Amino acid sequence: MNLYLGIDFGTSGARGVVIDEEASCIQAEVRYPFQDSPAAVTPKIWQEALFMLVEQIPDQLRRKIKAIAINGTSSTVLLVDAVGNPTDAPLLYNDARGSLVLEHLRSIAPPNHTVLSATSSLAKLLWMRQLPSFSEARYFLHQADWLAFLLHGQLGISDYHNALKLGYDVEELKYPEWLEKLQIPIQLPKVLSPGTPIAELHPEIADKFGFRRDCLVCAGTTDSIAAFLASGAKLPGEAVTSLGSTLVLKLLSRTRVEDARYGIYSHRLGDLWLTGGASNTGGAVLKQFFTNAELESLSREIDPSKASDLDYYPLLKAGDRFPINDPNLPPRLEPRPDHPGEFLHGLLESIARIEARGYELLQQMGADKLSRVYTAGGGAANDTWTAIRARHLQVPVVASVYTEAAYGTALLAMGDGRRDEQD
Ligand code: ADP
Repeated sequence: MNLYLGIDFGTSGARGVVIDEEASCIQAEVRYPFQDSPAAVTPKIWQEALFMLVEQIPDQLRRKIKAIAINGTSSTVLLVDAVGNPTDAPLLYNDARGSLVLEHLRSIAPPNHTVLSATSSLAKLLWMRQLPSFSEARYFLHQADWLAFLLHGQLGISDYHNALKLGYDVEELKYPEWLEKLQIPIQLPKVLSPGTPIAELHPEIADKFGFRRDCLVCAGTTDSIAAFLASGAKLPGEAVTSLGSTLVLKLLSRTRVEDARYGIYSHRLGDLWLTGGASNTGGAVLKQFFTNAELESLSREIDPSKASDLDYYPLLKAGDRFPINDPNLPPRLEPRPDHPGEFLHGLLESIARIEARGYELLQQMGADKLSRVYTAGGGAANDTWTAIRARHLQVPVVASVYTEAAYGTALLAMGDGRRDEQD
């Protein structure tokens, strides 16, 4: 039996999941939490984490692994020299130093392009040009590209999920002309479809860890797409809502939808588009008022079939982008009833309303009609909330069986994400 390994590099640690061809049960799950704060985690620590994860997989399973894929955090990037050694510290996903080059970038990139953000990979690359070590650098890589390189030994290869915020044209499958005009003296990665086999494992690594010599390393993806893949959503109209600290919506569609004003953009997923947006509302606001235990017990008291009249816009601080684009939008949490259960009902109802409005907006912009919503994140376990959301969304709302990005990346290694090649 062939097995597949997915590796997820998140902000707090790395995880690995091994699945079989049925993908119905997880054969092994391994973890490596980072001891340091995200900003202090170096590529050396990523490397240690990668090999520590691999070592934790039982020998008898490791021998059966046919393919491996890795996801990293989107827009975590680094420069490396001709043999793949980092020439400087990586810039992490949320590093906004690229704001210093935004004006320059605006004069080059098309209006409202995804790269026009302080944290985009391209803004980071342009910012890196003034580093003293820049002259030693040969390749610009994403975290997932570099980690995969450690396994297969080939430099300068990426996937079109990671490369979207570098400006890669995922529709035409090439770097656009305006990007070529920048004449950056650095090798931009060759971009493959996520899940495409790149090469066999480096023989030294295969032998050292007892992998098969023909074990393939595949092009990877980003953490949030991996989490989407894990849900099992596959058809146009199927969506995944992530109810974590914030509210993130992703809807599979045959049409590409883009609107920078609302922070809406689409990732390519085979011959479909993964459209989506993110709101600042979500669990972080609930956490401000309730413990998890209170959320559970108070939710049980709520009758989800009855709508709460409370019309809130729950935010920690002013400002949202999606589905309302207003940097000054004030949090609306009044009137506050005396009974905490009623207050919670109003909050859950209001977040559900914002979620429904978000999906409506995506559909108005041309995305496929919503047919089913999978749910991930801390709020997914709340059945009361699920029922309230189903009342607003008017489609079946289910908890995802699998939510781990590493599981989604294992599916990618197995070939699940390569629809365009199978067609
Ligand atoms: P993230 O990874 O985005 O930080 P998680 O997916 O771990 O978040 O979810 C954590 C959030 O889930 C917290 O903000 C918490 O308020 C919320 N949460 C936890 N339990 C419940 C529950 N039973 N009902 C609703 N929300 C919950």
